[in-house]
Amino acid sequence: MVKANAKSPPAFAWQEWYDGAGGRTIDIPEGDEILRQIYEEQYPRFAGPVAAERHVFASPEEAAKIVKAKAKEVGADIVGICEIEPEDLYRGRRVEEKYAVAVGQRMRWRAFQTVPSREAAIECLRVYHSLGETVIALADFIRSLGYSCQIEHPLGDSDLLHIPIGLKAGFGELGRHGSIIHPELGPLFRMGSVATSIPMTLDRPIDAGIAAFCDACRACRKYCPANAIPDERDPTAGKDHLGYDRYVVDTGRCFPYFAQYNYCSICLPVCVYNHKEWARDFDGFKTKLFPDVVMASSPPPVDPVSESDRHVYPKLKR
Ligand code: SF4
Ligand code: SF4
Repeated sequence: MVKANAKSPPAFAWQEWYDGAGGRTIDIPEGDEILRQIYEEQYPRFAGPVAAERHVFASPEEAAKIVKAKAKEVGADIVGICEIEPEDLYRGRRVEEKYAVAVGQRMRWRAFQTVPSREAAIECLRVYHSLGETVIALADFIRSLGYSCQIEHPLGDSDLLHIPIGLKAGFGELGRHGSIIHPELGPLFRMGSVATSIPMTLDRPIDAGIAAFCDACRACRKYCPANAIPDERDPTAGKDHLGYDRYVVDTGRCFPYFAQYNYCSICLPVCVYNHKEWARDFDGFKTKLFPDVVMASSPPPVDPVSESDRHVYPKLKR
């Protein structure tokens, strides 16, 4: 069992943040329907019976290979495995399992040709749902092998923090905009995981020069309408998995824009890691090299959650 510790952050207080930013004003019926399906149709399928007979793997390498192959078969574009540590859990949470099988699914670049937009918002939610089916199917498979497991859905009240898990599982590096950048998918993907104790070979964080590139590139910083993305790394905010000081996005500035303008997402498609020719659209759709960015006036910053319960890092000067 792994328990959260004193360094674990509190879970994100979504309702308080929405209340502080004037309530949930985004009105996208297709998105609401996807959310309904996730909460009403996927959440009840998180648990299931574990087979009485346990499959014996020849080695941790074989176990990792089989589990990863299954994850791909049921819809993962990327998959990695890491050990769960106390800091990977939200405060007060615990998981019975030792390892996380992290899965990611790409979002389609062609849905982010204008941001913020309803189309981009729906694409995010589509992938949350699709990846939800992936983690449910992977969990069913693991239980069929006689091992218990726990689903960490990409959307909602997970116990694990998806970003540290994704970094440890080798998905990429932490960008200036606070999202992981995968060397091939860029930042346009979503993550979830299945926690299990099957002994498996673990993956490692990667260094593809991406975080270092962020020090010279400021595209997301320039295009963030809320001025929430920092100029400099913050030496007080802890290190990322390669030992760099972290860039800290000011969520008090980001959230009001996010909550008012279709979940914003501007920082993801403007990231230069989407703009290489081979990444324009994986399905061959003709797309723009750079999205249209709607830069509306930013609402005032909000800090609706008490300092001790805030799932944010130190704020920039305002
Ligand atoms: S989501 Fe929008 S407001 Fe928030 S950091 Fe990204 S660009 Fe800025
Ligand atoms: S836009 Fe540039 S600075 Fe921002 S995350 Fe992407 S590579 Fe890094």
